[in-house]
Order: sequence, then structure tokens, then C-alpha cells
Amino acid sequence: MRITMIKKRLANGDPCQKCAQTEEMLKRRGHWGAIDEVVWAIEGEPDAPGWAYAKRHEVEVAPFFVIEIDGEETAMTSPLRLIKTYLDEPKASPAAAPADEAEVKAWAAGLEGAEPEQILAAGLDRFGEGIALAFSGGLDVVLVDMASRLGRPFRVFTIDTGRLHQETYAYMDDVRRRYGVELEVFLPDGAEAMEMMRRSGVNSFLRDGHAQCCAVRQVRPLARALAGRAAWVTGRLAEPGTESPAPIVAIDPKREGAERDVVRLDPLARWSRDRALEYARAHDVPLNPLFDRGFSMIGCAPCTRAVGPDDARSVRWWWEAGSDVGVAGGGDGI
Ligand code: SF4
Repeated sequence: MRITMIKKRLANGDPCQKCAQTEEMLKRRGHWGAIDEVVWAIEGEPDAPGWAYAKRHEVEVAPFFVIEIDGEETAMTSPLRLIKTYLDEPKASPAAAPADEAEVKAWAAGLEGAEPEQILAAGLDRFGEGIALAFSGGLDVVLVDMASRLGRPFRVFTIDTGRLHQETYAYMDDVRRRYGVELEVFLPDGAEAMEMMRRSGVNSFLRDGHAQCCAVRQVRPLARALAGRAAWVTGRLAEPGTESPAPIVAIDPKREGAERDVVRLDPLARWSRDRALEYARAHDVPLNPLFDRGFSMIGCAPCTRAVGPDDARSVRWWWEAGSDVGVAGGGDGI
């Protein structure tokens, strides 16, 4: 098998941004060595060899890949499909048994003061396929970036409540492609959501409080996402002014509908929001465009408003007494 990557070079000499990101992703995941040759399609140079490949395979996007096996060529535009179809992914270790309380306590003590990457690596090593990263479309993207740099296999899931901002949906797709990860999406149960809307209307949370809607759209899908898992990782950040910070590792009590407790890891629990943003800038991590529009928390569109991190007003469910004022992290939708 021979794999050729066709990249586009702009007239100013730079590679196209998507080509550069794809190369970076392949390197991070340890697949760059599998690319036998890079061929360029150069803007303004119709004789550049990349254009011949594009014409032969009728491809109009860059980058793309041509896989040659026994003289037969196949073109592929998706690096994810290339990896899945032709490149061996490192196998994750089998799902580990849930940790007991004594192990979790010892672990938490040992990881206090460790860097988030070390905490994440310890979780991925300990639980293998039994652990997954929760991604809400917020600053928890930092964890996706860190996991990707660690070079170990990892799983990512998200809860799609059906009420997220369009910007968040588009952003999730960007993250999926940028990091070459498959995003496992958990949705509300269709029959249950239909029954709730039939009985109480589509915006029942405005009159009846958010508990019922959140139970259908967030809590139960999350329980399904965690079913059968030994551990999960979330992007909770340090809350300013809190005397007892959230634990880095803890046993998460059994959730409604779940079979057992799971271990929760919060590698960013000692990081401020500014520290997470600093990491994102330093590593060119894409951020949800809603942050630029003044949102400090990413969540459901009708229930989250653009209130900055230093603003004392409620971020979510502001029409209810005792609503959510704090900004625990960038990605609190989960
Ligand atoms: Fe429903 Fe609002 Fe809760 Fe989202 S945040 S699940 S829209 S009540």
C-alpha cells in the first residue's frame, strides 16, 4: 500500500490552513509516518502535480489522499476515514473495573499538584476504553487537545439536548475534524421528549422550572452515556472565591438510571478560566465563537445568556429564583 497526500499551496507559499491542520492531526496521532509522499497542488501553477491527481480522481477539496494498492488507486477526502480504513489505531486497553474508594483516595492524594496532562494520562492509562471525555462545546476542548497530544487512544462524548446554539453544533463539527475524533452523541429519548412537549409545551422550563426539561434532555442522556463506563473526565475549572476546590478525582455517586458509581476526573479543577484560555491560545485550540459574543458558559440556547465571568447576574435560568449564577467552567452544558 502506498499513501499519497495531496496538499494545496497558496500563491503566497503557505499551505492551506486545512492541509496544515490535517498534517498536524496525523502527526499527533502517530500516523504521519504512514504517508509515503506529499504532492502539491499550487495555486496559479496548473502544471503542479497535485492538480493532475485532483483531475484524475475528480476531487475539488484539499487535502485529500490517494491510496494505491496493487496498482489500484482510491481517493479519500476524509482523514478520519483514512485512519479508520487503512491505518492501525493503537488499541485501547480493555475497560477496567471501577476503582474502589480506597484507590480513588490514594490516587487523588498522589495527583494533587500534578499537571492536567499528567492527571489525564493517569486516567487514560488506568481505565482504557472504560473512560470517556465529556465535551460540551466549551473550554473542555482543552482536554480534547491535551488527550490528542498524549497520543493515547481516547473517547469523547457529548450530550445534544436538541436546544444548543447553532454555533455550538458547527463548532463541535470543527473540533471533530480538527482532532480526528469520533464524537459520540447522546440525545434525549424521542418518545420521552415528545410526551413532555405534548403535555407541557416546547418551552415548559419558562413556566414550570427547568428540572423536568433538564431531566429529559440532559440528565438521562448523561446516565446513558455513562452506562457501562468506569470513569469520565469533565472540564470543571476552579471556581473563583471557593474555599474548598472540587476534587481532582472522586467517586461520582450513581446517577438516575445508572448501574453503578463511576469515577470522575477533573484535571482542570485547579486551573482558572484565564489559565485555560491561556493554554488554548498557546496551543492554537479552536474556541466556541460564542465566547467572542460574551458568553462565559456554553449551554442550551434558550436557557443561557451572554453574561461575562465577572458579572454577578445569573447565567442560566435567570427567570427562576436561586438560578445558576456561578461560572464553574467554560463547558458546563454537561
Ligand atoms: Fe431544557 Fe433549558 Fe435544561 Fe436545556 S438547559 S435541558 S433547554 S431546561
